[in-house]
Amino acid sequence: METFQRLESEVRGYCRNWPVVFDRAVGSHVYDETGKPYLDFFAGAGSLNYGHNNPELKTSLIEYLTDDRIVHSLDAYSVAKREFLETFEQIVLKPRGLDYKVQFPGPAGNNAVEAALKLARKYTGRSTIVNFTNGFHGMTLGALAVTGNSMKRGGAGVPLDHVATMPFDNYLDGRTPDFLWLRSLLDDSGSGLDKPAAVIVEAVQGEGGINVASAQWLRELSDLCREYEILLIVDDIQMGCGRTGDFFSFEEAGITPDIVTLSKSISGYGLPMALTLFKRELDVWEPGEHNGTFRGFNPAMVTGTEALRRFWSDDSFAASTKAKGDMVAARLGEMAAEHSDFGAHVRGRGLARGLAFEQDGIAKKVAAESFDRGLLLETSGPEDEVAKLLPPLTATEEELNAGLDIMADAARAAVKVAQP
Ligand SMILES: *Cc1c(COP(=O)(O)O)cnc(C)c1O
Repeated sequence: METFQRLESEVRGYCRNWPVVFDRAVGSHVYDETGKPYLDFFAGAGSLNYGHNNPELKTSLIEYLTDDRIVHSLDAYSVAKREFLETFEQIVLKPRGLDYKVQFPGPAGNNAVEAALKLARKYTGRSTIVNFTNGFHGMTLGALAVTGNSMKRGGAGVPLDHVATMPFDNYLDGRTPDFLWLRSLLDDSGSGLDKPAAVIVEAVQGEGGINVASAQWLRELSDLCREYEILLIVDDIQMGCGRTGDFFSFEEAGITPDIVTLSKSISGYGLPMALTLFKRELDVWEPGEHNGTFRGFNPAMVTGTEALRRFWSDDSFAASTKAKGDMVAARLGEMAAEHSDFGAHVRGRGLARGLAFEQDGIAKKVAAESFDRGLLLETSGPEDEVAKLLPPLTATEEELNAGLDIMADAARAAVKVAQP
């Protein structure tokens, strides 16, 4: 531990909540260097939807490396990239009637968001992006400008502008009609809102507190974008790759975004990889106009291809995630009822779930008590008011129940010291 404190920057974060040194990781479990197991309901913030070191994905990776296949190739053509693209087309795009082109913008989610924002601005010739309260899109300047969190924004050191923030679903009183404010601004030539290039939205806000946009709200947003010729960007970096059940979080709403960002679980193995997908007619990039040294990281494409083949060749994986999600929601509902004095309530969709507390500090305490009992979960929301569950989608029902048992104990311990 001393090594990290001496050498690693103060910027380090998660390790402060989990002050152990991790080493091995298999499926839904990680082990610290003393061999103590932890059930992982964090899953790399949604980068490990198929668990740690999934054996089939690992085999494909090891074979690729053992055979001296090309690892780094910028955006030169490679067999691994061709297989990934063909598999993505066959398994993901075609069955969903999506005619997207695929950009490899660089390895991180923020690269995918930056590319999406740049492309929307270039295509429309406009600069303003509409974002939503409590949205999270990454830490680079463009992505940070459309991110809500004031602490993270404060780190920018320069103005973050060309953004207009609107209320996310259910942000207001629930009686104000959806999009009243946005429509009013768009209709009023004196409103001061420059016509936006695009709207960027998460169907379920991950970092912002597991806030779920209803299918109806997403459809209305999509219609509004079409009506005013504004591009719709869905940031599916955390909620895509099956986190809410379907491969894309927006499928349930039946909408087709103009641009989609994917990262976190797209490699399936926790390897860095990101994609920006967009409608064919939006492909106005000049060659090399957006690039990145690590945009052709072939090992990630190899495991990404294998993950699509193994988990997405039919609907069964999505169905199992939805069923597990309902089970988790029901058990969280019991916890919420037990702690209603503290304003506890359940949020989420699929296997992105949260137990939110109106009373300050409780969710953080639940996460700390869970860690002490061998369960990793993080908090989310502007005040860390939500204990957030992102278990691997491959977690068994027994593992889910074991984690929820720990969480129930942790919640009882957390409220014991608090006064409602
Ligand atoms: C994690 C995340 C990002 C940023 O991805 P990085 O790899 O951390 O840059 C962007 N959008 C959403 C919705 C995310 O969850």
